[in-house]
Amino acid sequence: MYRRSLLRAVAPALCGAWASRAQQALDRTSRGMRAPTIREVRAIPINIGARLVVVKITTNQDGLYGYGCATFTQRSDLILPAVERYLAPFLAGKPVDRIEDTWQSCYNSSYWRNGPVLNNAISGVDEALWDIKGRMAGLPVYQLLGGKCREAAAAYTSTGGNEIPQVMDQARRLMDRGFRHVRVQIGIPGMSAYGGGGGGARTPALHNRPVFEPKPYLLRTLKMIEEVRKQLGDEVELLHDMHERVPPRDAIQFGKDVERFKLFYLEDPFSPEDIAYFRQFREQCATPVAMGELFNSPHEWTPLITERLIDYIRVHVSQAGGITPARKIAVLGEAFGVKTAWHGPDDCSPVGHAAQLHLDLASPNFGIQEGDAHSQRVSEVFRGCPTFRDGYLWANDSPGWGIDVDEKLAARYPFREGGLNGGWSDIRRLDGTVIKQ
Ligand code: MG
Repeated sequence: MYRRSLLRAVAPALCGAWASRAQQALDRTSRGMRAPTIREVRAIPINIGARLVVVKITTNQDGLYGYGCATFTQRSDLILPAVERYLAPFLAGKPVDRIEDTWQSCYNSSYWRNGPVLNNAISGVDEALWDIKGRMAGLPVYQLLGGKCREAAAAYTSTGGNEIPQVMDQARRLMDRGFRHVRVQIGIPGMSAYGGGGGGARTPALHNRPVFEPKPYLLRTLKMIEEVRKQLGDEVELLHDMHERVPPRDAIQFGKDVERFKLFYLEDPFSPEDIAYFRQFREQCATPVAMGELFNSPHEWTPLITERLIDYIRVHVSQAGGITPARKIAVLGEAFGVKTAWHGPDDCSPVGHAAQLHLDLASPNFGIQEGDAHSQRVSEVFRGCPTFRDGYLWANDSPGWGIDVDEKLAARYPFREGGLNGGWSDIRRLDGTVIKQ
């Protein structure tokens, strides 16, 4: 600043070539202090395994750009106009280096906020700006977040299958691949259980839609977990996702029933609408709980963390608005002894997987990361995406998220019209009552 002020003060008093050189120096200095600005914000739909949306921000500097995840598979088409009709004109010409300010201004620009479509659109922008900042610095984003707390992030993935031997086989195969944490799920023949195999003749009901009943699920799952623990021993960490499928009282009873099997955690025992039940759950058992993949708002995660009602916060990072809010959630969790377990299955883009992995690496209160190796097809589109080895997810050390999207190849996987366009169907109890999915 001092040099710049001095040049400004003396330049008018100078003359001839020297003055001209001073002016040029002033211009160079001014140019050097100006951050690159946003030239274009574009949403890229990629239908590869799921309907992914990636946001690309290009800048006024050649070759400087970044990618962010804005994936909301069940309403993916709505993200495109949210990004391109609203955020793109709002952001054009703004500096790329004011990430927090940009996040706050985008968040408030719709007045009504904290919905999944708008939060995902903001996430795409937010993560693209973090990517750009990393590329400008020549550093991976985990360095910008404070540097590594660990070399890699321990990962888990799920079993499926309708029968206990199938679940057992899949669990053993995952353990052979290096997983030390396994989420065990089992199907119910004739019903549409979450994460299970399904199949079998449809259970007769008063309607022709997929069926789910809480009681068979609860009994079958309890038996499965008991058997898995007996056969696989105490070394493997077991997780299970209830997927908000049963009434709160049944979920509390189940938490008590599985307490003796010492789960790593029980996921989503309640729906977001029933989070007040966590107080009762806590009072009655010591089963660790993970919650949050459907959360959109600080009103949901803040009380659960600050009252120490959960053990793992499991927000879907793009659903919360990107890395900027997610790192605050992580820090809040650290203060209250709550660990992170970001939601990370295939309905999150590899850019999103990389973003949450960088946060995993830099957060002292990291707990576990949902994730697995990407297929070769996905790795070809998202070059540099995280890899799985020995039970861990590994980030590469390239600047930003370390990912480049092969946009030509990605164009071969467009969204196609048809069916529910990525939306989910309904699931009903025997009498036809819709349940939460
Ligand atoms: Mg879940």
